[in-house]
Amino acid sequence: MNACELEIDLQCLGLRVDPSCTLEADARSFSRTRAGLGSGLELVIPGDRKAIWVNAPVVEPFAKNSPWLLRKDDAGYRLVHTTLGESHPVRIPPEPRWYRARTKAGTEMSRVGVLQGTYLGIYIEETCAFWKNDLQCHFCTSGLNVGTAEEARKTVEDVVETARAAKEESGVTFVHFNSGFQGEKDIDGIGPFVKALKEQVGVLVGVQMTPSKHLWKYQWLKDLGVDHLSFCYEFHNPEYFAKYLPGKQKTFGQETFYAAMEHTARLWGPGRVSGEIIAGIEPLPDTMAAIDHIVSVGAFPTVCIFRPLHGAKMQDVPAPNPDAMRGVFRHVAEACRAAGLPVGMAPNVEVSLVVQPDDALELLDAWDPRTWLYRAKLHAMKAAAGTLLRKAMAPHPVAAPAVPVKPEDTAA
Ligand code: SF4
Repeated sequence: MNACELEIDLQCLGLRVDPSCTLEADARSFSRTRAGLGSGLELVIPGDRKAIWVNAPVVEPFAKNSPWLLRKDDAGYRLVHTTLGESHPVRIPPEPRWYRARTKAGTEMSRVGVLQGTYLGIYIEETCAFWKNDLQCHFCTSGLNVGTAEEARKTVEDVVETARAAKEESGVTFVHFNSGFQGEKDIDGIGPFVKALKEQVGVLVGVQMTPSKHLWKYQWLKDLGVDHLSFCYEFHNPEYFAKYLPGKQKTFGQETFYAAMEHTARLWGPGRVSGEIIAGIEPLPDTMAAIDHIVSVGAFPTVCIFRPLHGAKMQDVPAPNPDAMRGVFRHVAEACRAAGLPVGMAPNVEVSLVVQPDDALELLDAWDPRTWLYRAKLHAMKAAAGTLLRKAMAPHPVAAPAVPVKPEDTAA
């Protein structure tokens, strides 16, 4: 298996931990924050082209039957396939010191945000309103995490201090904000956080929220300097969308997600906006159609392998088959290659929760002229994007207001 194939295997099967491992001393603690996907063990698989970060399921029951066993010896950590005998060295990233540091207000920083790979993930706002009405997405556990494993409300000051520590001590370049459904409160309330990070810390910022029908607000987010947007519409098949996402079905419907994704993909340009879906639940042709649709509008596909999280309504649904998932990610890579999408442009943004399109390029035939042409193009685009990204990662004043102002209101 190459590094990406192993990443997919681990996401689907999880791993067991041999008693030789000393994870309490060596690893990041398991933290179930946000929607809960980061509840596993963070590890890094060395690869020929790039190292791949994975959050491997460990605590969920299905991981107890995994053929993958993590062992430690004098040479370090190694993953061993107990049936095939195949083994791979892996690196276990240590827990950053700032996790246990406190902000001036006394908040432990790991309760503000956590590393999920190499980026800092922060859930903004209170518990998702869908959870309060038993309309939560069936795969999600955010209602069990926000306010328990993490602070119920994050302040701008706490976020700035945590992001600064993460940048200085862990080299973080990207902060990703998400939020459950809050009406329009989430999008309207994100401004002060983005503005403060841009002005006081200097990092790339991503925003993942339920879609707004007020499309003019996205121009405001762009003016604030938001670098990336993602829209989690999860399922392409309308029946699966309605069945497993009752809150999203009742409040938005798929069309609102499509409209916001298409609008913002045009506004931000290719490769800056993502459509996020879950693979392993709906029929594979629907997943493939979702990937094609996302790429056709200039967005890139962020595909999560379904993980049956303890406490989610779908906790007893089996995790998907790795062979089927390899086909899905090969399709991701082929679709991005065919569209010439810029993927993997931002420096040091490795996401452990999903197989990134950049990771999935490992699944393509490296000798196919289309693959090496695409890789050469990506290399050139990354070099060209470097100056712009360096500018975006330096603290700078932001002229846009911290709250949204409708264009005609300004004119008036
Ligand atoms: S919108 Fe769905 S996935 Fe997001 S926090 Fe709410 S219930 Fe969870």
